[in-house]
Amino acid sequence: MTILKCSATTCMYNEDMLCSRGEIDVMGESAQRADETCCGSFRERGSSATNSAKNSCGCETIQIDCKAQNCTYNEHCKCTAAAIDVGGSGAETSQETKCETFECQ
Ligand code: SF4
Repeated sequence: MTILKCSATTCMYNEDMLCSRGEIDVMGESAQRADETCCGSFRERGSSATNSAKNSCGCETIQIDCKAQNCTYNEHCKCTAAAIDVGGSGAETSQETKCETFECQ
């Protein structure tokens, strides 16, 4: 599994820059640049429902389904990178996040 660091601390799944979701979907079917990718699993923290559903902890590694097939690390929609960084500090929507490790083939 891939080691994930995530700077989208406004996401309900973010725990100290780690993701507590267990698996994420990265979007960007025709992406040529990191800016054209995003974490499709981002959910903004905020409503009382999401606040009360706090997950126990963030995990260092995560399963990643990724639609960015132009990326060097993408094999049949799975990420094969040893570690990735998801960026998006202050993000309010998933479009404001991105996979910073994206590398166009
Ligand atoms: S490194 Fe590439 S394959 Fe892995 S999640 Fe990021 S864009 Fe997808």
